[in-house]
Amino acid sequence: MKPPRTIAILGRKFRVKIQKKVIYRNEEVQGLCDSVEKVIYVQKDQTNSEMHETLVHEAAHGMLDISGINQKLTESENEIMCQLITALHMDLIKAFKLKQSNSSVSKRSRCQEGAVKHSQDVISPPKSQ
Ligand SMILES: [Zn+2]
Repeated sequence: MKPPRTIAILGRKFRVKIQKKVIYRNEEVQGLCDSVEKVIYVQKDQTNSEMHETLVHEAAHGMLDISGINQKLTESENEIMCQLITALHMDLIKAFKLKQSNSSVSKRSRCQEGAVKHSQDVISPPKSQ
């Protein structure tokens, strides 16, 4: 799935720009968050899944910037926070995808098309325990 053109971070609309090259401090980077202009830049030369991960990472920077938490952390602490948030997000995505594909596979084998659609409509995400 391609990245969205805009995302809301803590209620603020950020534009997402996919660019051939993203430069930060004279170095090529995968992504960059400009919280003043509210733009997240994502380098084009990545798979969709890598772009997703980059976007989550940069959105995490945006969240820390908007909340002001970024100013209470050093640059490397900010970076670690964004890496942790991204790792958690990706773990959750993986967990939800596994649940969804498992349930649809088992339903598909014993239900008709219409029944599968209906049962997927009423499946709610697993509650945390
Ligand atoms: Zn970062």
